[in-house]
Amino acid sequence: MYQKNGFLKSAIEGTTGLLEPFQVVFKHLFRKPITEEYPEFKRELPERTRGRIVLTRSPDNEERCVACQLCSAACPVSCISMQSAVREDGRRYAEWFRINFGRCIFCGLCEEACPTLAIQLTPDFEMSADDPLKLVYEKDDLLVDHGGKDPDYDFYRHAGVAVGRGPGTHEDELPAVNIKSNYP
Ligand code: SF4
Ligand code: SF4
Repeated sequence: MYQKNGFLKSAIEGTTGLLEPFQVVFKHLFRKPITEEYPEFKRELPERTRGRIVLTRSPDNEERCVACQLCSAACPVSCISMQSAVREDGRRYAEWFRINFGRCIFCGLCEEACPTLAIQLTPDFEMSADDPLKLVYEKDDLLVDHGGKDPDYDFYRHAGVAVGRGPGTHEDELPAVNIKSNYP
């Protein structure tokens, strides 16, 4: 009798165990899914997301990049290269500018190093390609027609061009010290 009861108990437990997964499946079968299908649904990413890199422009629509090479020096994987040139009015610019996104690790160090806010990372991450050479972006691919995260910033207006004024007369500058005034 004892053996019969034990068998019955195991049979009930086994059957319950077998049915439990089906119960879970049926419970969730008619619920609204909480997953979002990509690429049909594209989540809006925060502005600071480190994705595709662009070269931005200042408010007067000039290229911000002055080809100082600081971004290239800061890049830990050496994927930025450029050639500097000087315009007739003395303003420097990048004759060509190249980023190999096949090597880029999207660390953002180039953006931090840039004194003119020219190079900026954007939230766009859809850059996959079947050919590694397609991941090499030239200046035409990188240059955009806006100022990115800080559209009002104009490096040249403050520090880029000679304005014919003496030391200590620029915006927010203290008057120049006459060192000879310390002579006995
Ligand atoms: S994000 Fe990092 S790895 Fe990519 S180009 Fe800038 S410094 Fe180099
Ligand atoms: S993007 Fe910025 S750091 Fe890089 S060369 Fe141009 S001005 Fe210099």
